[in-house]
Amino acid sequence: MTTTPLSLYLHIPFCARKCPYCDFNTYAGLQALFEPLSVALAREISAAGAARGRPPVHTIFLGGGTPTVLSAGQLARVLDACHQAFTILPEAEITSEANPGTVDRARFADLRSLGVNRLSMGVQSFDGDELAFLGRIHSADDAEIAFAHARAAGFDNINLDFIFGLPQQQPATWQSTLQRGLALAPEHLSLYSLIVEEGTPLAAWVASGRVPAPDEDLAADLYEMAQARLVAAGYQQYEISNWARRHPAGGSFQSQHNLTYWRNADYLGFGPGAFSGEQGRRWSNLRSPAEYIRRSDAGQPLLDSEEQATPALAMGETMMVGLRLLDEGVNRAAFQARFGLDVSEIYPDILTELAAAGMIEVTPTCVRLTPAAVLIGNRVFARFLPD
Ligand code: SF4
Repeated sequence: MTTTPLSLYLHIPFCARKCPYCDFNTYAGLQALFEPLSVALAREISAAGAARGRPPVHTIFLGGGTPTVLSAGQLARVLDACHQAFTILPEAEITSEANPGTVDRARFADLRSLGVNRLSMGVQSFDGDELAFLGRIHSADDAEIAFAHARAAGFDNINLDFIFGLPQQQPATWQSTLQRGLALAPEHLSLYSLIVEEGTPLAAWVASGRVPAPDEDLAADLYEMAQARLVAAGYQQYEISNWARRHPAGGSFQSQHNLTYWRNADYLGFGPGAFSGEQGRRWSNLRSPAEYIRRSDAGQPLLDSEEQATPALAMGETMMVGLRLLDEGVNRAAFQARFGLDVSEIYPDILTELAAAGMIEVTPTCVRLTPAAVLIGNRVFARFLPD
């Protein structure tokens, strides 16, 4: 039985409409599958908890997709399955993603009554033209109204997601988006640069010349603009793309669920295409929602792929994800406890070279990126992965 608390990720593969830049495993127009998917998801959760002896869980994340397209009863079914199959710790962080175009006051009240205590809202922009370009189903005003409804329903831990680096984005619209976002005083902000993912409508638009490719230099300027603005507003940048406010009672509003990934700790993913990682074993479910349901109903395996990470890969990945945490970095004691050797014994030359180049800082307790290396983090991370 696992004694270190686990994190659970529940993938809801449905959206009201597919955004043209999105390559997540999510689909529009599958309303007929909402009910059977929730049944199959609850079944998968129940089996996983029973097989592990109802282990403790400290975070649950309802993601997708858009979990808030499901009815309260369907969400209750999957969360009830979590409570019955796992030991959900009293202080557990339970997050739901919420698209501002799919939520109202009643829906937020439902989520609260189901025990959801954190929201992650995909606002993306407060500029109408940018929202139209991104194919979002909500307006800027809708996002502000949804935020107010969430507060009124009692949510006191809310993340807002934004996207920057749109083709030819004006710094002024980004500043104005940040200003409206900060005016809401969310507990947490996630800022992502627009990536042209293969196979998306956006990729086709760029390939055909209908839309210019995003400009990396512009994205870097907008990122630095945001860094300065958010820090001035009192947010701590604790991860490359994430900022959190301090908690009045101490600590901060960092995402406990995402910290599981950045600390390379164990998590179980449920639903079509969901990934899991436990004790060095990683696996993923098949991606098709209809096939996931069919196999679940037939009592057949849901597995799509699995592998056991070699020690070299597990250590390299622990470095790669841990270096994303700008303050915490890779904890040397935790690394040694897991792999039996200190980071300086595994990577003596790489650490010396990167520290001399001013890209990392090696302290007695951690290894972390320097502020100067944040924009070129991927080059640093790659040094730790086996060939
Ligand atoms: S709402 Fe989110 S998950 Fe759904 S298509 Fe748009 S970006 Fe993807």
